[in-house]
Amino acid sequence: MTFLKLKCPVQHYAWGEKGTDGNSPFIAQLLGEDAVDLPWAELWMGAHPKASSCLENGTGLNQAIAEQPVKMLGHEGNLRFLLKVLCCSSPLSIQSHPDKATAERLHVLYPDEFPDDNHKPEVLWALSPFRVLAGFRPIQEAIADFNAKQSLSHWARLLSETGDYSALCRSIFEGDTPSFDNIELEPSNERDVLFAELWKAYPGDSGTFFAYILNYIRLAPGQAVFVPANTPHAYIEGRGVECMACSDNVIRAGLTPKSKRKDLLMETLDFAPSSPACMLAKNSAQTGFRLDASPDFRLSMVKGGQNFMFPENAPAIVCVLAGSAELSCKEGRLNAKSGEVFFKTADTEMASLSTSTMDTLIAIAEE
Ligand SMILES: [Zn+2]
Repeated sequence: MTFLKLKCPVQHYAWGEKGTDGNSPFIAQLLGEDAVDLPWAELWMGAHPKASSCLENGTGLNQAIAEQPVKMLGHEGNLRFLLKVLCCSSPLSIQSHPDKATAERLHVLYPDEFPDDNHKPEVLWALSPFRVLAGFRPIQEAIADFNAKQSLSHWARLLSETGDYSALCRSIFEGDTPSFDNIELEPSNERDVLFAELWKAYPGDSGTFFAYILNYIRLAPGQAVFVPANTPHAYIEGRGVECMACSDNVIRAGLTPKSKRKDLLMETLDFAPSSPACMLAKNSAQTGFRLDASPDFRLSMVKGGQNFMFPENAPAIVCVLAGSAELSCKEGRLNAKSGEVFFKTADTEMASLSTSTMDTLIAIAEE
């Protein structure tokens, strides 16, 4: 076998990117499709049963894998990762993803809400400036911010007394929050600005108060954030490449009209504070990110002038985001252009990629 060209489904979630005068959304541009009037949120590259990519003959990648798992993957079962291009122009819900043991339990208990039994660690690599909330911020920073406001100073006391975020989160989940008009907002304070932005998008949603208690991270293009299991996070705005374990299990904590699972959040969230620096994924130009916390995938971003050798006996997905590249293997070679996506079967031998132009940018996900 060799590199198989994929056709990949687009998710038009409401928070996706819409066209503006003369500018088409990034995913529509990438695929060379007409934007019509839809929001272009996510391009899914993988074999998740909810929206599997297809081969050129129309067969689902998940079906092709089910027919010949060992040739395609080198093992039984399904592809272990899902690669996405993600473009958000308004904030996504605050959420966390269960660890493996919790996912297995929740899938048995609530199969409608938790469609698979897998965990979902995820890494987001910024294609544009990307604003993210991820992980609880250092507790003294939140105490200082709350102390500066009469309307929130009782939360400063609560944090000082309890020493972690669990009691405060319980208040927020129960909607025991001050009203927006009573909060003394300052236009020069970035947390206040973010809170007002979230409130505008989700008026009345107590999840907006997470603006004050999570790490607020502004990724520059080329930086990446890694979100482990049970870590609260929300993508606010930007374009990026996201790779995750193949799962669609989400526990929503706020900023959503969908149901929130207060009980599950209180049970599963990791309330320990972190810092923006510990949420950043280590960036290595040569090897991409292989995360110790996730044996399921590695994401590499290959730029113009770089080459890439694929490991033997492992599947990979290649997405050309800009420019072009030559893919070669024992059986031959082919040219991959911007917007094209290929699946490298596990039994492809001596597979490599070389970029053709300096403006080339390629995402490669592999097991
Ligand atoms: Zn997530």
